[in-house]
Amino acid sequence: MSTGLDFCPSVGDAPFTPQQREWLSVAHTLGRDRFAARAAQWDETASFPFANYEDLRQAGLLRLCVPQAHGGLGADYASYMMVAAEIGRFCGATALTLNMHICSTLWTGVLVDGIPMSEAQRAEHQRRAPLHFARVVNQGALYAQPFSEGTAAAAGRAPFGTTARKVAGGWVINGRKIWASLSGAADYYGVLCTEDRGDDKPDPRDTLYIAVPAGVAGLAISGDWNPMGMRGTVSRTLTFNEVFVSDDEQLMPRGVYFVGAQTWPAMFFTLAPTYLGVAQAAYDFTVSYLRGEVPGEPPVKRRQYPTKQLAVAQMRIQLENMKSIFWRAIHEAKPHPSRDEKMRLYAAHYSVMEGANDLARLAIRTCGGQSMMKHLPLERLYRDSRCGALMLPWTAELVQDRMGRETLYAPGERDE
Ligand SMILES: Cc1cc2nc3c(=O)[nH]c(=O)nc-3n(C[C@H](O)[C@H](O)[C@H](O)COP(=O)(O)OP(=O)(O)OC[C@H]3O[C@@H](n4cnc5c(N)ncnc54)[C@H](O)[C@@H]3O)c2cc1C
Repeated sequence: MSTGLDFCPSVGDAPFTPQQREWLSVAHTLGRDRFAARAAQWDETASFPFANYEDLRQAGLLRLCVPQAHGGLGADYASYMMVAAEIGRFCGATALTLNMHICSTLWTGVLVDGIPMSEAQRAEHQRRAPLHFARVVNQGALYAQPFSEGTAAAAGRAPFGTTARKVAGGWVINGRKIWASLSGAADYYGVLCTEDRGDDKPDPRDTLYIAVPAGVAGLAISGDWNPMGMRGTVSRTLTFNEVFVSDDEQLMPRGVYFVGAQTWPAMFFTLAPTYLGVAQAAYDFTVSYLRGEVPGEPPVKRRQYPTKQLAVAQMRIQLENMKSIFWRAIHEAKPHPSRDEKMRLYAAHYSVMEGANDLARLAIRTCGGQSMMKHLPLERLYRDSRCGALMLPWTAELVQDRMGRETLYAPGERDE
């Protein structure tokens, strides 16, 4: 079926809605005309892609998943996942950081509707969420998602060490987050922390999701930032020392995040589209390079070799497999998926995260030594592609771990 687009998006040729076509076209044009040329500079200097964010802001994409009733574009889960892949095709660091921001509005918007809540919790959320949406819509505010702490908490297997203590009118936050993408760039940090009830018995069910405004007293950013890949994410360390925030900064009512993470597992799949885009970029480059169409490069006369043709075919087969399972997973995503849907979701996540690196590796092997020079994008794609499988809560290892366990054991089942 024809997409009615003058390009094939990273997710492939599919029956898009008119709105999806429009959003994909905006993402593609921005990526091709602006982000692609700038990607090397963020990578080289390990600096945040502010210029890309100005473009995203102007194009309205920062409010992509804010509900229409609150001034946003009202994109649903699947539409966002497609747009994210298309941005990742041109700048992985932009797509990955945009994901942290978009999820702050997606989880508190579309996704929250499917999370079981009491009437009081629902009313509380409906009172508070508009404040956050208005910041994004009216001020172009950027939200980050610092969850990781270097413990089992971000994988959902322990309470967070970062705590929130209830005081009159708000919360006092203490703790430390590592790998906080958008550090120094975000206007608000959506922090996951565990309620400190003063009884020394932290419980993951008491997880709070709270926005901490940048520049508030007691918040500090520290640490070097010189990683192998995804260098433009600028994911430094945040420390919170007796940081006071008002009650209205709660992005979800008390206890709702914990239920949400169990109800809506696809919320964690949102890290994957960036890497599908990176895989597409590695494939795109390989085809252009072998066809002698990379601007400024001498025409390499290699495409006549059967080994090159086979390698390109192998890459395309893997890419199509990744797209197919990605497509199915984004359309099956829902609260309380069936066991099989959950298995496919894990399989999709694993396939994209590990597959992106496989494709980038094959791309370099196939194009050869001259293709990995720093003035070309392939070596950056190779480094960026390695990062996906490391990301909690669904690292490649932890996904396999979940799949094996959840296949062989029913919920609650134990060995004697
Ligand atoms: C580019 C990039 C951007 C990021 N941005 C953010 C961000 O914005 N916000 C954020 O919160 N985090 C972010 N992260 C952090 C990320 O999600 C992880 O927290 C981080 O990579 C953890 O690395 P670690 O080695 O400390 O993890 P560890 O938890 O120490 O895990 C190390 C390895 O052990 C394995 N492992 C861990 N627990 C288990 C277990 N129980 N059983 C078996 N194996 C296990 C994991 O698979 C992993 O491979 C980002 C990471 C990257 C790479």
